[in-house]
Amino acid sequence: MSLSIAIVGAGIGGLAAAALRKVGHKVTVFEQARAFARVGAGIQQSPNAVKVLRGLGLETQLRKRAFCPNSSLNRKHDTGEITWERMLGAEVEEKYGAPYFYMHRGDLHEALAAIIPSGIIRREKKLIHLWQNDNGVQLEFADGTEATADLAIGADGVHSIVRETLWGAEAPRFTGRVAYRTTFPTALMNGATIDGSAKWWGPDRHIVMYYVTPHRDEIYFVTSTPEPDFQVESWSAMGDLEILRDAYKDFHPQVRSVLAACPNVHKWALFERDPVPQWRKGKVTLLGDSCHPMTPYMAQGAATAIEDAAVIARCLNGVGHNEIKAALQIYENHRKPRTSRIQKVSRLNDLDKIKIETERVFSYDAWQVILS
Ligand SMILES: Cc1cc2nc3c(=O)[nH]c(=O)nc-3n(C[C@H](O)[C@H](O)[C@H](O)COP(=O)(O)OP(=O)(O)OC[C@H]3O[C@@H](n4cnc5c(N)ncnc54)[C@H](O)[C@@H]3O)c2cc1C
Repeated sequence: MSLSIAIVGAGIGGLAAAALRKVGHKVTVFEQARAFARVGAGIQQSPNAVKVLRGLGLETQLRKRAFCPNSSLNRKHDTGEITWERMLGAEVEEKYGAPYFYMHRGDLHEALAAIIPSGIIRREKKLIHLWQNDNGVQLEFADGTEATADLAIGADGVHSIVRETLWGAEAPRFTGRVAYRTTFPTALMNGATIDGSAKWWGPDRHIVMYYVTPHRDEIYFVTSTPEPDFQVESWSAMGDLEILRDAYKDFHPQVRSVLAACPNVHKWALFERDPVPQWRKGKVTLLGDSCHPMTPYMAQGAATAIEDAAVIARCLNGVGHNEIKAALQIYENHRKPRTSRIQKVSRLNDLDKIKIETERVFSYDAWQVILS
């Protein structure tokens, strides 16, 4: 039996969740934006995410677009001393059954969007309200239109209107820190080179830098920088390069050369949120940042949203109208402990704790794991 499923939000999680088509349901994705912009951001996709992407048929093409170094370095901010080299490349692939990708966020988003037939993503559909009764879910959009579905999934990100409708407004805690980030052509470096991937640890701030293409022709960096007065979480807010360069003036010349070369930078305030106590209400549930927003320190926000997508597809496989609530509850019961744990470890930004978590995080296979 085929269900009609409304997914709110065509971010990485919402697009991956459109995989529900694979199990025979009728999916519609409602996205507020008119078009998808290639915002200057990199993204790491660890083996747990790549296993899901493989199931969506994307591994081969993403391998061609991603940067896959043999290792990633952790360095002291000033001397450059290597404190830990995380082995990647063939070693991580052999151990966890999938590669580790560094790529442009826009390339990942574009690849996910490309496997969804036209008509399934409805743009300029900003959800403003949703309600439900025994027959299903009703969605109301800012343009005055409405839609109905047997069930709905809120994949509408960190400021989720679906979460707020179900569970009320939340109170995130500002960490006092911001992420400066951008991508730019390596050609602007005038011949200066960088490590393929490195995290430079200062006493109270860090910067992560890596290439986002196999040709090493585009560089990405993202920081965690103390800045108590800026509290905007937005992919489009811009930062001041002079303030950024000054904040990293004591860092190693390799870092300073990247900051000197970059032409512009975005800025995202870093908030902490506790795990949402419940995801599902009736026939509506949440996915990705709407229910487990996390600091980017373990690079698992999108990865876990992608895992959610595979698990919810499995839970809804073969499900009819009377089993929707039970299926969504199995999804939540299975996913919440894992994502809550990653949320909590990620916020610590503690290298030793991250090392310990690696095995648990990378070895997970959302297509195979037993759902209890
Ligand atoms: C600085 C930084 C670095 C990061 N690095 C990594 C990394 O390396 N690896 C990783 O895995 N994760 C990383 N993340 C986390 C990752 O970006 C997020 O976890 C991921 O984007 C969440 O995906 P999502 O689909 O849940 O939400 P989003 O990507 O935010 O998508 C939500 C979508 O919903 C739409 N929407 C919102 N409201 C409405 C509405 N009312 N109606 C209709 N549509 C709506 C939005 O327009 C958007 O398209 C990073 C995050 C930050 C801030």
